[in-house]
Amino acid sequence: MRERRRRVLKAVPGALLALDLPLAWASSIVAVRVWPARAYTRVTLELDAPVRPTYFTVPEPHRLVVDLPGVELDATLRDLVAQVRADDPYIAAVRVGQNRPGVARLVFDLKVAVDAQVFAVTPVGDYRHRLVFDLYPEQAPDPLAALIEQNRLMSEQAAAARSSPAQDPLAALIREREASSARSDRSGSPAASQDLRSREPGRTDSPRDPNRTEPGRARAPVRRMITVAIDPGHGGEDPGAIGPMGTMEKDVVLAIAMRLRERLAAEPNLRILMTRDSDYFVSLGARVSKARAVSADLFVSIHADAFVTPQARGSSVFVLSERGASSVGARWLANQENRSDQIGGVDARRGDREVASVLIDLSTTAQIQHSRKLGTAVLGELGAVGDLHKAGVEQAGFAVLRAPDIPSILVETAFISNPDEERKLADPEYQQRLADALHKGIREYFRRNPPAARGQAT
Ligand SMILES: [Zn+2]
Repeated sequence: MRERRRRVLKAVPGALLALDLPLAWASSIVAVRVWPARAYTRVTLELDAPVRPTYFTVPEPHRLVVDLPGVELDATLRDLVAQVRADDPYIAAVRVGQNRPGVARLVFDLKVAVDAQVFAVTPVGDYRHRLVFDLYPEQAPDPLAALIEQNRLMSEQAAAARSSPAQDPLAALIREREASSARSDRSGSPAASQDLRSREPGRTDSPRDPNRTEPGRARAPVRRMITVAIDPGHGGEDPGAIGPMGTMEKDVVLAIAMRLRERLAAEPNLRILMTRDSDYFVSLGARVSKARAVSADLFVSIHADAFVTPQARGSSVFVLSERGASSVGARWLANQENRSDQIGGVDARRGDREVASVLIDLSTTAQIQHSRKLGTAVLGELGAVGDLHKAGVEQAGFAVLRAPDIPSILVETAFISNPDEERKLADPEYQQRLADALHKGIREYFRRNPPAARGQAT
């Protein structure tokens, strides 16, 4: 009973499953939290000792039933009922009760069939033992279709606000999809490095690419939809850094990201993917996967971390490093960032798979070259808003910058650990100035590096 085997167990209707975790005789619930989001709803139970739950799903109506041995029903657990919001996409209600002496039972009444991922997270940071229930829709939305829908709503809102006819990104996207389906499938990773080259106009005549010599192929940059992935750092269980006044990094970076989205949404032929647009946790691997799923042209991760000394100040921009970091500070920050999955809580078995799917390949060198160009453009604009922590783009092994085929930067807008910068970060006006600087930097990058048509190299 006490062996520590770990196995992946999926909830299937009618089957009783046990998570193979160390058995505890009695645990008290320290806290319960619910994080609803379009992507998935997470329920976290924080306990003072590990528990070994059993759970199963029941269809018609869909329910997830969880038994917690060694857990007594108490006020903290009952609080879960009140935490479910009416607009939760997946949970209609939660019922809690004492199933039998020493066993508390949770019944989640579900709005749709879910794929329940249940896993334990060992204590880390300020957290004690966590039991996590991630409820994903069984019918996951197609990432590109979801992006189209999000951008359509955004452009409708923008058009209504301006009362002027806007570019129709949906129509443009449909045209692009039709055009791309007529070409051969370019989604295979071997084409990734070629695809990146095809975006660099200075190299469009490269003799190394036999496709360039084909007649009829467009050589000049072609206007097409550009996709920018905006990645607000942290979220949900992972607050990021917390300032001396209590300001959370996850909140200020989301605010800056939303302002950047608004600016970019006004650009023609540009659509935006937000890796998160509300307060929920997204693993580092999932951030990269989301951007790759929609063939993003750029990836901009926004942060406002703490630093070892409260005096540290100013903005910095980082790109991936294949070996080593450009400074001790850069390495320290990358290590902090890369802890996000541990703090936020991922099922280690799933997380490993995601990281494996974005291993560095040969195209990474080209990715880093482009990322530096983007980083330099953004850093130049940030320097006009406030201090720069370092005059040049820095490098370190940030896991979130590892898409081998997407120029990717991580922007530390300011240090939330510096009381003066914390105050600025919480100020909407300063957030707007930072967003405007990011916007100008991105525009400047595209002005100097116009994207070429997709599929040229396939
Ligand atoms: Zn951060």
